[in-house]
Amino acid sequence: MQTFKSLGLSAPLLEALLSEGYTEPTPIQSKAVPHVLAGRDIFGCAQTGTGKTAAFALPLIERMMANPQPRQPKRCRVLVLAPTRELAGQIHESFKAYGKNARLHSAVIYGGVNQRPQAAAMQRGVDVLVATPGRLLDLINQKLVELRGVEFLVLDEADRMLDMGFIHDVRKLVALVPKERQTLFFSATLPAEVRHLAETMLRNPLEVKTAPQATPAETVTQSVFMLPQRQKRHLLVHLLKHDGMSRVIVFTRTKHGANKLQKDLEKAGIRAAAIHGNKSQNQRELALAAFKSQQPPVLIATDIAARGIDVDQVSHVVNFELPHEPETYVHRIGRTGRAGFSGKAVSFCDPEERPRLQAIEKLLRRPIPHRTDLPDLPKAEPDSERGSERGSERSRDGASRGAGRPGRRGQESRSSGGGGSGRRPAGSGRPSGGKPRRQGGGEGGQSKRKERSGSTATAAPPAPAAKPRTTKKYRRAL
Ligand code: AMP
Repeated sequence: MQTFKSLGLSAPLLEALLSEGYTEPTPIQSKAVPHVLAGRDIFGCAQTGTGKTAAFALPLIERMMANPQPRQPKRCRVLVLAPTRELAGQIHESFKAYGKNARLHSAVIYGGVNQRPQAAAMQRGVDVLVATPGRLLDLINQKLVELRGVEFLVLDEADRMLDMGFIHDVRKLVALVPKERQTLFFSATLPAEVRHLAETMLRNPLEVKTAPQATPAETVTQSVFMLPQRQKRHLLVHLLKHDGMSRVIVFTRTKHGANKLQKDLEKAGIRAAAIHGNKSQNQRELALAAFKSQQPPVLIATDIAARGIDVDQVSHVVNFELPHEPETYVHRIGRTGRAGFSGKAVSFCDPEERPRLQAIEKLLRRPIPHRTDLPDLPKAEPDSERGSERGSERSRDGASRGAGRPGRRGQESRSSGGGGSGRRPAGSGRPSGGKPRRQGGGEGGQSKRKERSGSTATAAPPAPAAKPRTTKKYRRAL
């Protein structure tokens, strides 16, 4: 069995990992770390929750320690690009935790907050800069940051960059980074455009795969209820009260839908936090912090807002509506079943959403088991909520089309919040006794991976392979 030491990491990192409670490398860490240490480019297909942040952060910290360089004003040695500020914040926290004995300087840059502290952090230069593309370009244009000193470039969640319309910004940024560099490229799914981008950025990369394309973590048990839209909230209330859901993220497609659902749950006596693009940075951080401490244990989220949220032991993900992009389904359910724990993903599918369900099953190459235990639900009034949601979606779609890309970038600025609050700081908030997370006991429907092996409800004969998707536009504002 491999250990962090046998992967080639030195004492300062091993000590930091010990205090993080990591006892052994995850598969992607075992595969990637030695090659990154050897200077190889990496093309990684890895799902969220597999430990891919450490897979790139650990060897890069090691490489910088082996070759210390003085800081250069406005420059960085490692540049990590991430699609949302939640994810950027989490990656930044990870670098700080893993590199706490390495005397590295780091900064994080994202939109939606005052740029002054970010510019100040870059004034003397840093070793590690984690950034979302839009704000980084802004600061570069103002000559507050420059990329000439980048030795290591990491592109995380490339498929998401594509979905969110940031790919042009990414290309611009890559053009500013020296060609002589090491590049690490990660994506959970590999649509053709992502592969193409990788080809232009990487040199003789090592392909590291932790799971077949778009295969959700095996630790997530999936199921779907078929029911009319108007009954979904009643089913959700029933499940929240009777189905052992201890820590739940409920995904809605729209901000409006998230707000409405929060009110509906409140009426039913269930407190829930909501996180979406119309919430201020402060509100989002408060909602996340509250959810993490399980008060309330229900978080209603839209896709952009939820991207990269790293909360331990989420017992259930509920897809209140199915996403338009099948890949989004994979990302959503990746919020549970993380770091070796098991989790459940329950989807609600109105008859009109069937084509979306089929698209998801095609991507997964397997059917999602249907739930036959639909409880008796109150007869809800006709589809007034669906009407209103459609209305809001129509206007929103129109708005985003009219606004074009800058509008979407603005949306990133406003909508991707919470930098840094997602991941625990080293040694804090971990289950008492420093128990490693991957070995921790289950909570509310969670158990160890090995206890669950073979127990997922997804073992069905493979369906025909999905065609790679080539065009995707993130039109539905979230
Ligand atoms: P990531 O895929 O990078 O988002 O990581 C998912 C979660 O796994 C994070 O909470 C990490 O802190 C945790 N993690 C990463 N590597 C390990 C490891 N080797 N042992 C235990 N937990 C880990």
